[in-house]
Amino acid sequence: MKALAQDAELFLFDFDGTFYRFTEAFERHCIEATARAAQRLGVSLPFSELITLGQESHIKHGTSFAVFRDRFGLKIEDWHEVYHQELEPHLIESSQVTAAHLAACPVPWALLSHSNRYWIFKMLRKFGLDAVTPEDRVFALEDVRYHYKMTSDSPYRQVLDRLGARADRTVMVEDSVRNLSTAKKLGMTTVYVTQGYSFDPVQHPEVDLYFDDVPTMLERLKAARATG
Ligand SMILES: [Mg+2]
Repeated sequence: MKALAQDAELFLFDFDGTFYRFTEAFERHCIEATARAAQRLGVSLPFSELITLGQESHIKHGTSFAVFRDRFGLKIEDWHEVYHQELEPHLIESSQVTAAHLAACPVPWALLSHSNRYWIFKMLRKFGLDAVTPEDRVFALEDVRYHYKMTSDSPYRQVLDRLGARADRTVMVEDSVRNLSTAKKLGMTTVYVTQGYSFDPVQHPEVDLYFDDVPTMLERLKAARATG
């Protein structure tokens, strides 16, 4: 807890799956949005095949897009916009993280997400978090030149550069272990949000600390700071 309690100068939060928990219905919806986006961008396969491709790509690469880039030559700039247009926020009722949590966060924070700004701000408004989230503290995939966190430390470096922050004073908070591995190599403290799923820290040396959710992390942080 020491790095969290004493040394941190920046909390960098992932958004989807980290601020709110994915439901099974929402996971299905994301894969269906994948299939609809592929159709709209001209991939002429049956819908069920597009679903299977998206699922396999998500498991193998951490993004449903990879297969459509590799097999069909789709461009991330096109994909990113169309896919998010197909996503509906109604399957997620609320965020675990509240405006009060963010307002009371003792460390400056920012968001670094694989989603686009359109989706992130739509959800922040729905959750009542937009008023406490400065626009220049939100980094969407298009803000980091479409570089993914799981394959490169480039998005982390771009955010640190723009915020004038140091990797060894930054805590990355994520629901994806894959995304944390690059943050860890860059020297960040890594926090995995389990969302209640079983997790074996011995298998994941890239994870420094893990909590059920962000509010639990913030409570533990507060307690650690109080006891010095
Ligand atoms: Mg996530």
